[in-house]
Amino acid sequence: MEIPEIFGELVFNDAAMQKYLGEKAYLDLKKTTESGEALSKETAAAVASGMKNWALDNGATHFTHWFQPMTGITAEKHDAFLSPGENGAAIMEFSHKELIKGESDASSFPSGGLRATFEARGYTAWDPTSYAFIKDHTLCIPTAFCSYMGEALDEKTPLLRSLRALNFQGLRVLRAIGDNETKKVLPTVGAEQEYFLIARELYEQREDLIICGRTLFGAKPPKGQELDDHYYGAIKPKISSFMKDLDRELWRLGIFAKTEHNEAAPAQHELAPVFTGANTATDQNQLTMEIMKKVALRHGLVCLLHEKPFQGVNGSGKHNNWSICTDRGENLLNPGKSPENNARFLLFFSAVLKAVDLYQDLLRISVATAGNDFRLGGDEAPPAIISVFVGDELDAILTAIENDADYHGKGKTKMQIGVDELPAISKDTTDRNRTSPFAFTGNKFEFRMPGSSSSIAAPNTIINTIVADVLSDFADRLEKAENISEEMHTIIKETVVSHRRIVFNGNNYSRAWEKEAEKRGLLNLPSAVDALPYYLKKKNIELFERHGIFTALEVHSRYEIALEAYSKDVNIEALTAVDMIHQRILPAANLYMKDLSETAVNKKAVSKTMPTGFEETMLRRLSSLTATLLKETDSLKALLSSLPEGNSLPTARYLRDHVIPTLNRARTAADEIESLLGRQYAPFPSYAEMLFKI
Ligand code: ADP
Ligand code: MG
Repeated sequence: MEIPEIFGELVFNDAAMQKYLGEKAYLDLKKTTESGEALSKETAAAVASGMKNWALDNGATHFTHWFQPMTGITAEKHDAFLSPGENGAAIMEFSHKELIKGESDASSFPSGGLRATFEARGYTAWDPTSYAFIKDHTLCIPTAFCSYMGEALDEKTPLLRSLRALNFQGLRVLRAIGDNETKKVLPTVGAEQEYFLIARELYEQREDLIICGRTLFGAKPPKGQELDDHYYGAIKPKISSFMKDLDRELWRLGIFAKTEHNEAAPAQHELAPVFTGANTATDQNQLTMEIMKKVALRHGLVCLLHEKPFQGVNGSGKHNNWSICTDRGENLLNPGKSPENNARFLLFFSAVLKAVDLYQDLLRISVATAGNDFRLGGDEAPPAIISVFVGDELDAILTAIENDADYHGKGKTKMQIGVDELPAISKDTTDRNRTSPFAFTGNKFEFRMPGSSSSIAAPNTIINTIVADVLSDFADRLEKAENISEEMHTIIKETVVSHRRIVFNGNNYSRAWEKEAEKRGLLNLPSAVDALPYYLKKKNIELFERHGIFTALEVHSRYEIALEAYSKDVNIEALTAVDMIHQRILPAANLYMKDLSETAVNKKAVSKTMPTGFEETMLRRLSSLTATLLKETDSLKALLSSLPEGNSLPTARYLRDHVIPTLNRARTAADEIESLLGRQYAPFPSYAEMLFKI
């Protein structure tokens, strides 16, 4: 297998376009995608025809608009290219209309009340900035998904809007500081994806995994992850063959899967791609998750993407590496070698600091799901408090700026931004803090809070928007300034002074930080239900409206959708738990108790003096535990049958405050029962089997 040869062979990329579109259509398409203008009808027709020919040459029989509704996964509806031709012959057709716009009865996708049922139609619109690709003999055309009135119903539309905002404000700042050459400012993203792999036959014996994606029960195995022997350990042959297969599939789809290694928990792994533009990175991450699941099945495995599949074992996240790049290939978050580059770096860097401080709530919201609540703050992932890690070197620089002091401490002159040179910032020291939710790692920020199963569209939409907002303020000032260099210095200094509280370089997992953060007035929003109401804050709605990301109506709809998703998740978990308790755990315990009592009776029949202490003690323990379990299960059922009606916030709060704690108590009893049962009575595969048997 020649990697360069297969790389991107299933993608209608630049090379394929040049070959299939003809020069004029190719150049027109390039021009319009770069400028963001609408495509002419002729060009669209030429693109549709070229795309179809390429797809047919590569074995496709169907096409679909591929979109990302707010379910977290992608959606598609396949149509054959096939059309009836003359004299009963079949022809392969694909028109520019089919390329550009699709109609879809989308009433079953979440809309948060945006689409009343009588107006259930939605439409999908081609996103020419992301390449089409072939999957399962189907040409997939990345599209945005909107209501008939144009409201966003998906993850991609706001992301594209945020890219436009960041580009606009970023360029304003660059122009104001004398850069007349840069034409485009674009965030780059590399999303490291964590996941678990377990044997398919074990998975299939557990309703909780099948229905909820995580285990609702499971006694702690004798060996957990304490030994840390899995992290970067040798990869087992079965896993290695999965990874090889996965890489190959991803490469064919033009996804630069680069590093694959074992993670901290047993059976946990990670895939890191090479970074690319935020829109492409988001599409590719969705595809990566889908392909991971598919390839796993081929290897007799199941890929678990849930944030917390196993209690007591590290969960999975998605590290969203983010930076800002120009069309000239410059990374604006790379501290440059010259004083001018240093000044520009500090300007953009301080813009991010300010944005994160002002909009901690939105960053927290962008990762708020029921699944991620199990992970955040659990000593394995950042806490639910947002802060920024900058490392010692940058910290010293910020201090020097704040105090007008000389950085080298020689006490001669104050540091002049844009005149003095900054010392090189070594990547090593900036990459060490693994506990920070938002870490500067030398030339990019790593947002470590996103959950493993979620789309990265929302976090990136938020980061782009909040940074664009701060850049817009900076641009307002710089455009009016008489002395640019002095104004830059003032802006950076003021920003650092006002927003220094968001910087924290210590251990984010410590309780001391929680106290300290509270003193600093930072937000601590432990659960999704705490975070989501912040969506509706005036300052946030105004921010979204200011940059054309969301209308107030769209914000309300996202808020409703997120709350509903939370409630649905918790509700389904509780119902599944009730079923498993009745159908598996209680009967298993009872079978063991039956054997125990029969043994005791038989023993007494042999001899009245035969000791039956073991049987009696076990019976007593199991009787008491099963009674407790039944009591908690009945409470759970009662709670579920009296959910508050109507409004989504009280429902979500009720589930969090009453249902989850009861579920946890039932689990404690169930896990104790499981740990007492002999192997032949086990109600389902144990943690030890799932985590260590591959
Ligand atoms: P490591 O964490 O192993 O040291 P890196 O920090 O270089 O590796 O990369 C981690 C992830 O960050 C990768 O997915 C990589 O593509 C991504 N990344 C690196 N540079 C950038 C950048 N400028 N913008 C966005 N993502 C980046
Ligand atoms: Mg990293």
